[in-house]
Amino acid sequence: MNVYDSQVAAGLLEKAGFEVIREPESTGDPKGPLSGGADVVIMNTCSVRDHAEQRVWGRLGMLGVEKKERPDLILGLMGCMVEEHGDRLFKRFPQLDFLIGTRNVRDLPTIIGDVGKNRAQAAAIGKSGISIEYSEFTKRDSPFHAWLPVMTGCDKECTFCIVPKTRGAEVSVPADKVVREAERLVSGGVKWITLLGQNVNSYIGSEKGNSFPGLLEMLCHIGDLERISFTTSHPSDATEELFQMIAKNPKISRRFHLPLQSGSDKILKRMKRYHTYGEYTAKINRLRELVPDVSITTDIIVGFSGETEEDYLATKRSLEEIRFDGAFIYKYSVRPGTPAEKLPDDVSPGDKALRNNELLAIQRTITDEKNRENLGKVVSAFVEEAHPERKGEWFARTDQDRRIVFPSLADLRGKFVRLRVIALRHETFLGEVV
Ligand code: SF4
Repeated sequence: MNVYDSQVAAGLLEKAGFEVIREPESTGDPKGPLSGGADVVIMNTCSVRDHAEQRVWGRLGMLGVEKKERPDLILGLMGCMVEEHGDRLFKRFPQLDFLIGTRNVRDLPTIIGDVGKNRAQAAAIGKSGISIEYSEFTKRDSPFHAWLPVMTGCDKECTFCIVPKTRGAEVSVPADKVVREAERLVSGGVKWITLLGQNVNSYIGSEKGNSFPGLLEMLCHIGDLERISFTTSHPSDATEELFQMIAKNPKISRRFHLPLQSGSDKILKRMKRYHTYGEYTAKINRLRELVPDVSITTDIIVGFSGETEEDYLATKRSLEEIRFDGAFIYKYSVRPGTPAEKLPDDVSPGDKALRNNELLAIQRTITDEKNRENLGKVVSAFVEEAHPERKGEWFARTDQDRRIVFPSLADLRGKFVRLRVIALRHETFLGEVV
């Protein structure tokens, strides 16, 4: 969602006459000033992990030092941290010039103009409405792929998560508006759309109650739209209707990301995940039955409050039983402001590290074994971009969202090709056109 918001912000600023540059790390001058010489620095912030927040504080400190030498430098923050801390941030960081809430991205050019003119701090932090902006000026990375947020906020209450606090209750974009935006993107050359939402599969698109599967069906009718993917889903909203919709529509991506978080029912309850391990596996089994070529990935938190050795072993068993195609495995760290802040952080750092490393090793082996099952197979893949270093080679994504590199004299960007998987390099397939 943050990537999308940054793309919208960059597009609106360019339209207003600003030249948008990337952060210094990506322009190849890590030793240069953090501002990269820009007149205005905007950080689009995410609050999900405390570590990310700490980095923003650190960068604000460095930019404050730079601003002492260059008082005209304008510093602004946007995103979830603005929602979480509001204009208290001005007190803590007097070097900040402006704050933009998640519902106010459109105000960016005006607020920068005002700060430049008045040299006074300014904030635009709306509390009503939806924090999703559709804009024809969005500066996308690819001409063929677009992110499309369809809902925001979350009505679940996972105890480790800050999202309900920063993004508020669930709000969905009406289905007809989503479809119009998708049609606009497709008429501009987009072939693949990724639907976004903190809890995307609990989407309710209108008073008439379009469900998420209903929205998928409407989008599948857009003729030149060739692939639709979505993220992130919650197990309790992963329904039979959704699975049936995926099964009958080959346009819908064959990758399904469904966070499990823990294999222990006791820990799932403590996390307030609203599902047991048994319910989760029943859904996975049904999905695999209906969509045999589906690739299932997950998120795991290891070392959550109260996790005993027995709970940990249940998670370890879950990886071995379910055999995910991939998993993001994190060590738990307390996120200030979440309900879990009140629970004891009682798994030692040493145990967290041991458990994390063991799970990572298990998952690496499973992912490798599952990847190897594809060797020799012919897959359909969407060609994304040229290899940055090797001329005549191209990057594509399979229907299961795996990366595959292949040689071709023709520029096939934006097209689907059929490729035979001939080798595996780390987690990337090597292929040849068939
Ligand atoms: S469902 Fe997802 S976004 Fe909502 S509270 Fe849980 S982890 Fe956070």
